[in-house]
Amino acid sequence: MASNQPAAQTPPEPEPARLGPPSTAAAGLKAVGVTARLVGEMGLARGVRALLAVNQADGFDCQSCAWPSPDGDRHVFEFCENGAKAVADEATPKRITAEFFRKHAVAELAAQSDHWLNAQGRLTEPMVLRPGATHYAPIGWEEAFALIAAELRALPTPDAAAFYTSGRTSNEAAFLWQLLARQFGTNNLPDCSNMCHESSGVALGESIGIGKGTVTLEDFEHAEAIFVIGQNPGTNHPRMLAALAAAKARGAKIVSVNPLPEIGTERFKNPQDFLNPLKVLTTLAGEGARLSDLWLQTRIAGDLAVMKGIMKALLEAEAARGGVLDREFIAQHTAGFEALAADLGRASWDEIVEASGVPRETILAAAEIAMRSKATICCWAMGLTQQPEAVATIQQVVNLLLLRGSIGRRGAGVCPVRGHSNVQGDRTMGICEKMPESWLARLDAEFGFSSPRTHGHDTVETIRAMHDCRVRVLVAMGGNFLSATPDTEFTAAALRRTALTAHISTKLNRAHLVTGRTALILPCLGRSERDAQAGGEQFVTTEDSMGIINASRGRLTPASPELRSEVAIVCGLAAALGLPAPWREFATDYDLIRDRIARVVPGFADYNRRVRAGAFYLPNAVRDRREWRTATGRAHFIVAPIPRPGVAPGEFVMMTIRTHDQFNTTVYGLDDRYRGVFGGRRVVFMHSDDITALGLMQGQRVDLTNRHGGTVRLARGFMVAPYRIPRGCVATYFPEANVLVPIGSTAARSNTPTSKYVVVTVATAG
Ligand code: SF4
Repeated sequence: MASNQPAAQTPPEPEPARLGPPSTAAAGLKAVGVTARLVGEMGLARGVRALLAVNQADGFDCQSCAWPSPDGDRHVFEFCENGAKAVADEATPKRITAEFFRKHAVAELAAQSDHWLNAQGRLTEPMVLRPGATHYAPIGWEEAFALIAAELRALPTPDAAAFYTSGRTSNEAAFLWQLLARQFGTNNLPDCSNMCHESSGVALGESIGIGKGTVTLEDFEHAEAIFVIGQNPGTNHPRMLAALAAAKARGAKIVSVNPLPEIGTERFKNPQDFLNPLKVLTTLAGEGARLSDLWLQTRIAGDLAVMKGIMKALLEAEAARGGVLDREFIAQHTAGFEALAADLGRASWDEIVEASGVPRETILAAAEIAMRSKATICCWAMGLTQQPEAVATIQQVVNLLLLRGSIGRRGAGVCPVRGHSNVQGDRTMGICEKMPESWLARLDAEFGFSSPRTHGHDTVETIRAMHDCRVRVLVAMGGNFLSATPDTEFTAAALRRTALTAHISTKLNRAHLVTGRTALILPCLGRSERDAQAGGEQFVTTEDSMGIINASRGRLTPASPELRSEVAIVCGLAAALGLPAPWREFATDYDLIRDRIARVVPGFADYNRRVRAGAFYLPNAVRDRREWRTATGRAHFIVAPIPRPGVAPGEFVMMTIRTHDQFNTTVYGLDDRYRGVFGGRRVVFMHSDDITALGLMQGQRVDLTNRHGGTVRLARGFMVAPYRIPRGCVATYFPEANVLVPIGSTAARSNTPTSKYVVVTVATAG
């Protein structure tokens, strides 16, 4: 990289992080304290208005994760600490104006940390970085749209453009975004789902015929056992803890499967209890509700083996005493049982214990819980989806539930928990590089054009195509394309080779600083802000992890009069391209968009009336009537071998994780109190015996290196932190460690970057 080029990675911290005692319970009074501080930062009136509106039926949907809100009555404060952080991050009174960009050159900004960039405040007007310029300069909206349109029209083929979507994008904006791309002539619609639950969609589609979860929040009230696998709900889906605590109080058993001990699955103090005079004192004085009954500490990517172990134990118990498997369900609804039984019979306990890292007796204890439960829910997140054999591993989770008939009935089923508020909705709206023919045919019929049929690029393919100069224009709806994707320096080089990078954003991030020849920042309204259009105040909709469609109405005054809504920006660009749809009408009245969605997207009939009547569930053939839309019309038991990791002596398997003070690549603060890390993020968690074996010490700075495909990827200056992690495994935070995640290392069949399985070496800092 040329010396004056803006840095692609956040710089090393001047001061190392400090290690201290981790929290002894998730949430608790500290969460209330953090929320109170955030209200102060937003300004009392604005802060209280925002937090009283978030996740309310007539308010706006939380911008953060996709955990559902209750069907019935909602709490006055229907949010968690990290929801409050997301709201405050958007409702900050800080503003970035043209003066800011006049003062700060792009290269100078790139030398700042991601935390600093995000803390500068809300973007307020469109900015352009012209070829060869060192500073962003103001540009008018129409000129910006014209500039993008000119770059797009100058392309040799529509497939030289890519239209990226982050999971914050509303249903209405997402539907128009895919329409714009397809009317322009491409299916290049990469999205953040490619990096998170793509593996879940592929696995579930093959196993049960639907790529989504099959449980509702109400099912948590009836589950007898809940497995939380490769997920850290305490930080990434915090309101889930209340559902787990309620289930536990009812007698349900909770099993967590994770290489790391996470306080969020160990102990929880529900902040709602501080508002309950009957509970406040016991909650204050107590240790918090114990959640997990059992923790299976797998080695990284040991989940497939541990699932096979649990199933093997079920089959052995069935053989010993019968009545363990739901034979009637298996006969009536499934295919492939015999092959699975044979495979499990062949699997050796030694191999299972070795590959999983979990003792046999612990696996048997988990199996006992599964056997005693008549209704089991399995939840998972990135800990499963970002492994090389993610798809096969998730299918073993499904196998386990099928053996006991625990899918498609009350209190039971699969629950991939989405990490971004509308990532599932975006996919439902057609944000995917390979939509089925039936979907495209309905779109064509509705809009009277012929959309492209050649599959487009997902995120990894888009990065490769930019690197090869096959994709020359990237327009991103939200997100932080550079920091959220793998192989940071490779991705940065790819972005720099484009003619144009344009980002629709609310706040400043590193993707704005590592750009194509020309770059644009188009500031949009936040979800918490009122969206006034010519047709009056508009609302948008989102879809959460459980397939519930919610209306979302902004309640705050926009951060700047110059901001435009996501919908208005899509319509402005499409009109500038002269694409054949009523874009100006769509921008005036979002009901017109929903009318179109109602005719194109299954499950949305009568959309406008239904969503005004309240949140509604999308149809789910498995949940609603055990209908399996697979090739055979049955649920599939799918066999998979236990993966054998190719790690050489002296190498470690690294997983990237979030702190409690971040949401995806947005860094709210520098602490991770749940893990006892304060004031810094360049930390590598290691087993103390591995630290000793390498002759290292706690607090020492080390460099991490990955050499996948013959390319040396280096992450400098990480502080050694002893942790309860299996030997041979290490954990680091992203995006700092994304530079080590090879573009060429992706999960089989889903092409999801393997951020939870990166082979590295650790050495004293150079
Ligand atoms: S659980 Fe998720 S959606 Fe709910 S308030 Fe917290 S961050 Fe927001």
